[in-house]
Amino acid sequence: MNIKLENYAEIVGNEVVDQLHQLAALLKNIRVVHINSTKQGGGVAEILNKLVPLKKELDIDVSWEIIEGTPDFFKCTKYFHNALQGNNIKISKTLLKEYERVNEVNAEKLHDTLNDADIVFIHDPQPAPLLQYFPNRKGKWIWRCHIDVSQPDRLTWKYIKKHIKNYDASIFSIPAFSQVLPHIQYLIPPSIDPLSEKNIDLEEKEIEAIVSGLGIDTKRPTMLQVSRYDYFKDPVGVIKAYRLTKKFVPDLQLILAGGEATDDPESQRVISDVHEAAGKDPDIHILLLPSDAHKSINALQRSSDIILQKSIREGFGLTVTEGMWKGKPVIGGDTGGIRIQVVNHQTGFLVRTPEGAALRTRYLLFHRDKLNEMGKKAKSFVKENFLLTRHLREYLTVIVSLLHGQKERIELE
Ligand code: UDP
Repeated sequence: MNIKLENYAEIVGNEVVDQLHQLAALLKNIRVVHINSTKQGGGVAEILNKLVPLKKELDIDVSWEIIEGTPDFFKCTKYFHNALQGNNIKISKTLLKEYERVNEVNAEKLHDTLNDADIVFIHDPQPAPLLQYFPNRKGKWIWRCHIDVSQPDRLTWKYIKKHIKNYDASIFSIPAFSQVLPHIQYLIPPSIDPLSEKNIDLEEKEIEAIVSGLGIDTKRPTMLQVSRYDYFKDPVGVIKAYRLTKKFVPDLQLILAGGEATDDPESQRVISDVHEAAGKDPDIHILLLPSDAHKSINALQRSSDIILQKSIREGFGLTVTEGMWKGKPVIGGDTGGIRIQVVNHQTGFLVRTPEGAALRTRYLLFHRDKLNEMGKKAKSFVKENFLLTRHLREYLTVIVSLLHGQKERIELE
């Protein structure tokens, strides 16, 4: 589907779109490259899939490349992910060597693309060491961190810092994640695309057809968590919350909808833990969806009564934003980026335990008027703060300020 920038004006207003054109006018003839490690699965791919075409719409020369890795490389980067989000993990020298070797190979492959680019966004730790292989780079390089680094394992952070300290800037999603670094840091929360298949309005009939096609009874109350199968998303905690609630709501169903990110070697283990915890309960639906099942996720979020994101650590949680955009309050883990989306008692509830999640679920199921009222607030909060157009404006502003850094003021037309 070819979405024009002007289509967003219908949602966010003309002024927002005009600002984007004004900023883009300052960026004629520059080349921007984004690098991450997967085109499918997880929030980063979700965002780049939408952000990159929109930059093109603004006539910015932008490309998105991925680095290719080996199983040991992804094992190492999954360890980074877990350690940077607070787990105490000692990563072996052999794995670190493989991490650096894979980056060196990718640096050779991407040499011409990256060396002459004006702006390079490096997303997350996987491609972070690329910078050192470009001593004669033309452009400014930005490290964009999407994960919750509020309390990283110290040794792992020290190692990663060695690779990112020479970047020109870094971007974190919320203030609690910023770190001591010798360059400028920007705070930019992620966003969702309201016009994407995942978020666009759907007809009731279509929702009903999709959701019942997945084996769900649309007449019964339903709890939903959409997530990669990752321990930080606490799917087993969600099952516990469901069981506690079901004592009071016997016809309750639970849907855990997820897929596997291609750069995540741990998901199989999480999936088997989830199956074990679910046992033979026919009302727990564990869905393994293909990576392009955007419309199914949209329909599931629209048809479910309760949306949870019971993460223990969370960089941002696009699934929270997506649920709120569907007019639902979200019951979210009291952590990381969920805290800037779920305003407790207003746009959802922040919880720390399965018991807390169950209590809030039960409350919302028995107070539908409150559920609807909070859902309305949730949607307008997303509209004000977490849509793609705001995100794009902030990225463009960062680019303009890095390229025009010597000037104190940037004049817009
Ligand atoms: N997602 C998906 N299919 C799945 C699981 C997740 O399309 O099976 C999407 C989800 O809708 C959201 C993104 O992947 O847009 C996950 O982003 P989030 O920030 O919630 O978590 P991350 O996976 O980046 O930790």
